Amino acid sequence: MPGPSTAAIIVAAGRGSRFGQEMPKQYAMLGGEPVLRRTLRAFVEHPRIDRVTVVIHPDDRGLYENAAADFKILPPVSGGATRRVSVLNGLSALEDDPPGRVLIHDAARPLVSPDIILRSLDALDRCAGAVAAVPVHDTLKQSDEAGSIRRTVPRTGLWRAQTPQAFHYDEILKAHRATNDDTLTDDAAVAERAGLTVALVEGAEENLKVTTEQDLARAEMLLRTAPSGTIRIGSGYDVHRFSANGDHVTLCGIAIPHEKGLAGHSDADVGLHALVDALLGAIAAGDIGTHFPPSDQRWAGADSRIFVEHARDLVAEAGGMIENVDVTLICERPRVGPHRQAMCTMISELLAIPANRVSVKATTTEGLGFSGRREGIAAQAIASVRIPA
Ligand code: MG
Repeated sequence: MPGPSTAAIIVAAGRGSRFGQEMPKQYAMLGGEPVLRRTLRAFVEHPRIDRVTVVIHPDDRGLYENAAADFKILPPVSGGATRRVSVLNGLSALEDDPPGRVLIHDAARPLVSPDIILRSLDALDRCAGAVAAVPVHDTLKQSDEAGSIRRTVPRTGLWRAQTPQAFHYDEILKAHRATNDDTLTDDAAVAERAGLTVALVEGAEENLKVTTEQDLARAEMLLRTAPSGTIRIGSGYDVHRFSANGDHVTLCGIAIPHEKGLAGHSDADVGLHALVDALLGAIAAGDIGTHFPPSDQRWAGADSRIFVEHARDLVAEAGGMIENVDVTLICERPRVGPHRQAMCTMISELLAIPANRVSVKATTTEGLGFSGRREGIAAQAIASVRIPA
């Protein structure tokens, strides 16, 4: 049974008086893209979120259009004078087609992880609201006006509230409409005021709020030290039979003298064909036959390196980075060993990745099966590709 539909409201209307740059912090560049864009991606790509809208300051329309380009999201909503009013505007904009659940998130928390979003939503099965939070570990002091310690505040049971904050839509809308108290600094406080029970769910130190230039530098550092994205794996397999004649075979782009050639529509480079299928598999983009049908005369006798270059470009278009590839050639003859280094160099150049990320191996089948009977050559390949999270 499908659950209630879930919307996310990204609050990006703040002016960021504590931030040193010209533009508001949510539009500053982080890892080569605006902070808001990174935040949006976390929600747009989350499997449990159906709709996303952003509350913006009307003056930031151009910055917003740039940050949200190509995302399929609802039109932006204009914010108000305070965060509370901005959230209320965002909630009200969903009223015509109300979601069951809503997540409210600060645009300036770009490193929110999918599991925090999941925990927040799951907690709504048992509570009216849920707030991502981290426990306070430092000892807390309250100061007097002279800057001396007045007292030590017990930290037991104290948490730092983050976002997302998740609620049942009807209840949080009603709670927001019931107050105009701008001292309530988050939506949990609005919910508490309305008497709703709000659960704390595990947030993360990495889910920091970019408030100052130092925060931005720290977020940059976190991005660099923890490579983002997910690894996708693809596998490929191919076989070509020996032809009656010929004086060489082409394996992984290298021509190797041999008593017979390999039969095939193209140059029959079984190693590169397996590699192409592995790359296509990693980005779920079909197989070599989809892109280069044997019925197409353009590929008759083709140099298979063009197939590899095409697959490489498709990976790049999908935003992917090839991490490594591993090809195994399966044959009794010709001997692969003497050519292995040249094959690795060839693939490394074709894919534009360092040679230490390319492996070419060879095995026989101990005389068994078609390759053992020297009827043909088989190859299998694996490719791993890092795709942005
Ligand atoms: Mg083939």
